[in-house]
Amino acid sequence: MSHETTSNIQAVPPLLSVQGLHVEYRTRKGPVRAVDNVSFDIQRNEVFGLAGESGCGKSTIAQAILRLHKPPAHITDGQVLFDMTDVLKLDKKALQQLRWEHIAFVSQSAMNALNPVMTVGEQVIDVMQAHRPVHRKQARQRARELFDVVGIDPDRIDSYPHQLSGGMRQRAVIAIALALQPELIILDEPTTALDVVVQKQIMEELKQLKDEFGFSALFITHDLSLLVEFSDRIAIMYAGEIVEIGSSRQIFTEPQHPYTQRLMGSFPTLHGERKAFLGIPGSPPNLLSPPTGCRFHPRCDVAIAGLCQEVHPDLFTVGDKHHAACHLVTEKDRDFQQS
Ligand code: SF4
Repeated sequence: MSHETTSNIQAVPPLLSVQGLHVEYRTRKGPVRAVDNVSFDIQRNEVFGLAGESGCGKSTIAQAILRLHKPPAHITDGQVLFDMTDVLKLDKKALQQLRWEHIAFVSQSAMNALNPVMTVGEQVIDVMQAHRPVHRKQARQRARELFDVVGIDPDRIDSYPHQLSGGMRQRAVIAIALALQPELIILDEPTTALDVVVQKQIMEELKQLKDEFGFSALFITHDLSLLVEFSDRIAIMYAGEIVEIGSSRQIFTEPQHPYTQRLMGSFPTLHGERKAFLGIPGSPPNLLSPPTGCRFHPRCDVAIAGLCQEVHPDLFTVGDKHHAACHLVTEKDRDFQQS
């Protein structure tokens, strides 16, 4: 985790700026607000982590950034600025150029991302030739190099996806993602389907590749210990909203939102001491009719009676570029101002 670089890279304009993004699923029962007024920036060469329980909206954001979402999902408001260009306004051709060339996407299931009737090498070559005037022989040589880079024997480029292990398939997808040296790679639960040892190996390799290739990453996972280990900054999502955002160190050592605190207590750290896990009582709300006030209030054991059920908390500054959406934080600040 490169905390030292975080302060330096914050000063330059962001590579990606998501502003006021709203995504809803139009269902027969009514609109489900999967992503509700979400804003964050990703700097160049930064790993930005997005965490939260299943269904909190993190994968919907990943898909919306590249407009990969399909009906009934609809982007109803907001901006996705990549290098100052609004992705949501691009025509089809410009969008196709953006995908893989500038922003690559690595999803949870390599088997779904790969074409089962093409060799994995062909699929790398395909992506290269679709975007660049590269000769087939050169593309094949580049595919071999990329396989070597991601830790697969280059001779395996002639294998079909079903002939590779789960870890190798995921590495092959990462090789495709690296093929055009994009500025941003979206990693949507990239290792969730793999066993923990392979998971750790692939994350370590991705970190090295990031340093070597110099890309930024949006890293999405429900596994906070992995996220803290590999991200520079982190946003915590709950029920479609960002409830806390800060550096990995701030989120790890001084989480302010009760949900973040509970989430941190639910995972073992990769290198830390053994401890009892707290868990989070209850389950996330139905977004067809989310709770009034703070959406976490039905599960929050420190909710303020008469306030949390009624008033929606805004993101409040709690430290240097550290924000949390909780009335307890504003209450603390009021006490501080009055004293
Ligand atoms: Fe809990 Fe209230 Fe803070 Fe929500 S705003 S997390 S209910 S204390």
